[in-house]
Amino acid sequence: MIEKSLYDDYVIDFKENFTTEDESYLLIFNQKRELYLNESERIPLVSLDYLSNFNVNFCIYIGTYKNKACFTVNVHDTDDYYKLQDVYEINKDTYQIATRAVLVNDWYLLNQYCGKCGSKTQTKEGSMSLKCPKCGISFHGKIQPAVIIAIHKDGKLLMARHSYNTRVKYALIAGFVEMGESIEEAVHREVKEEVGINVKNLQYMGSQPWPFPNSLMCAYKAEYDSGDIKVDGDEILKAKWFSKEEIEEHQSDISIYSVLLDDFKRTY
Ligand SMILES: [Zn+2]
Repeated sequence: MIEKSLYDDYVIDFKENFTTEDESYLLIFNQKRELYLNESERIPLVSLDYLSNFNVNFCIYIGTYKNKACFTVNVHDTDDYYKLQDVYEINKDTYQIATRAVLVNDWYLLNQYCGKCGSKTQTKEGSMSLKCPKCGISFHGKIQPAVIIAIHKDGKLLMARHSYNTRVKYALIAGFVEMGESIEEAVHREVKEEVGINVKNLQYMGSQPWPFPNSLMCAYKAEYDSGDIKVDGDEILKAKWFSKEEIEEHQSDISIYSVLLDDFKRTY
């Protein structure tokens, strides 16, 4: 997981109709949310004329990156670009700013029309929101909070096999925060639903933007409290306690899972 702050290199801003003659960073996404990188596998630092090579849907100024203007661009071109997971393996800095850029891109793309009356929305001067001129509703960027939980018991870590995730055999308990509940309530509910046990002594371990598609992962460590492991056999196929020697290494450290795992290994 990336430890440095997004704001080490980036100054946040938003302007819909901003142009510049200067070289700028162009974060160009196709309709599959893949990022265009140049032949050196970098974000193009070029003038806006460069976009004449693309079938541009929109281009929005999102602030400065490494002291240069920075734009998120949406194109209709059908070429394959780089998946965000692959961008992470190539260059973590690029992935970090691309996460910001793809989420702004999604927000702008998906809120062109009011969800209530269908009118064309308009940007509101000075704020990053799209507003319906008819009913006055503003559409801001949406982030879906989610929780991931490392449950400890007598030097072991609880991991579960999810039916929807075929890439890894066993993973930590995780799920979305439901409407109307707190993040801590989501932790207790998800654990109970997925593996049937109760946990106690929650400890917040950090958060991570997770653009697949628009989550904010909140990581917790918890102690086993009571109950027997019981899985539904549908979403969760199996769950069991692992010692640190038994845990399978993941191919990538892209997820905050790696922080929870390192903490577990340090503790025992
Ligand atoms: Zn409306």
